[in-house]
Amino acid sequence: MPTTRTCRLTTLASALSLTLLLGACAPMSPTASTSAATPAASPAAATLPVDAALRTQTQAEVQPYLKTLESLVNIESGSRDLEGLKRLGDVVAERLGKAGMQVEIKPARAPDFHPQLKGAPLGSMVYATKAGTGAKKVLLIAHMDTVYQRGMAAKQPFRIDGDRAYGLGIADDKQGVALILHVVDLLARNGFKDYAQLGVLINGDEEVGSPGSGPFITQLGSEYDAVLSFEGGGSAAAGGGDMVRLATSSIAIVEMKVTGKASHAGSAPQLGRNALYELSHQMLKSRQFGDPAKGLQINWTVANAGGSRNVIPAEATAIADVRSLTNEDLDLMEAALKKSIEEKLIPDTRIELGFYRSRPAFVSNAASRALAQHAVALYGGLGVPLDIRERATGGGTDAAFAGLRPRGGVLESFGLRGFGAHSNDDEYVLVSNMAPRLYLATRMVMDSGSGKVRW
Ligand SMILES: [Zn+2]
Repeated sequence: MPTTRTCRLTTLASALSLTLLLGACAPMSPTASTSAATPAASPAAATLPVDAALRTQTQAEVQPYLKTLESLVNIESGSRDLEGLKRLGDVVAERLGKAGMQVEIKPARAPDFHPQLKGAPLGSMVYATKAGTGAKKVLLIAHMDTVYQRGMAAKQPFRIDGDRAYGLGIADDKQGVALILHVVDLLARNGFKDYAQLGVLINGDEEVGSPGSGPFITQLGSEYDAVLSFEGGGSAAAGGGDMVRLATSSIAIVEMKVTGKASHAGSAPQLGRNALYELSHQMLKSRQFGDPAKGLQINWTVANAGGSRNVIPAEATAIADVRSLTNEDLDLMEAALKKSIEEKLIPDTRIELGFYRSRPAFVSNAASRALAQHAVALYGGLGVPLDIRERATGGGTDAAFAGLRPRGGVLESFGLRGFGAHSNDDEYVLVSNMAPRLYLATRMVMDSGSGKVRW
């Protein structure tokens, strides 16, 4: 826990009308800013004075927050672990209900045409709402599924070591779910209702591309004025710093299936049509497509062909991963692949091409940039720098679904700084980052809900 001198203010009523007193407190020790060297990508925004009572509250919230985090980490919830996801979803739903929200559990299922999931049932979504008296609708989103298999948590149990809280899935994205629970609870305890509507969406299929929840998140993005997504807020590794994101990559899955003709590989190979050769030809041609400088890339990652050594293979399939910074570039990639399969190595083979848009790119608008500048100003009030990332770095998130047909602004990376997501390294988040991030997210809801952030 950071040692910080704070103001004595016990009631929130005073806290919320506190602007007068704001300058009276010592600045929070910038415990989360050991990386103060990180340059800000955007021109410095004006710093907003700190809400001292809220800051004190968020500091006191760190211990309860850690307890919540522990309880969430202790329920394993891989994307295909429907039983674990249901248990976790029930915990989340109960907590949101206790904070006075109307809670709905919404089933999710992959579309039938999804290349790998083909109509499979997915973890249900927890959608909660609460009406207020203010100007704008604010939505908070995070995902409760992880990339890990059941049983792996035994090797990475929840534990705290110095400034690090460890646990499987803690950075991606249980910290985000826990932050939302505590932000909602803080607002409820403070009687804050100066938003038109507060919404929470916790989904259970993000790590498989949100095939079930994506369309609903897009719908919500077109209904809410501000959407804050709680993926990790920067690297906890040396040299990392706090950030918010205005861009994430789009992801597509390419499936290629070649049908040829089987024949005896020893006595009549000329009567066969080798599907494996044709597939290889197509993969080698298309691996050059795209433009790494533009962030458009294709990589073939899975292939299957043949069954017997002495038979010319009649079938061959492969899957590629495609990334792009814009949705238009994804269209270009699809068109290039379609054209490419017209030119074959083995004329009598047949090629089927599936191009599945798994996740759109998140491209920012003026409202998103206004939200980002406001976040920088709020964090500045705490004395902590906040970097705005304007360029995607290959990862895709649900902010993109929310930002596809936005009513207002969308901002990503409201979570904690962490380390080790999707890797073999032990996953952790920074304890010293918890109070500042709780403060930032709570203030963002208050200021965007009441209409103080303008665009
Ligand atoms: Zn995530």
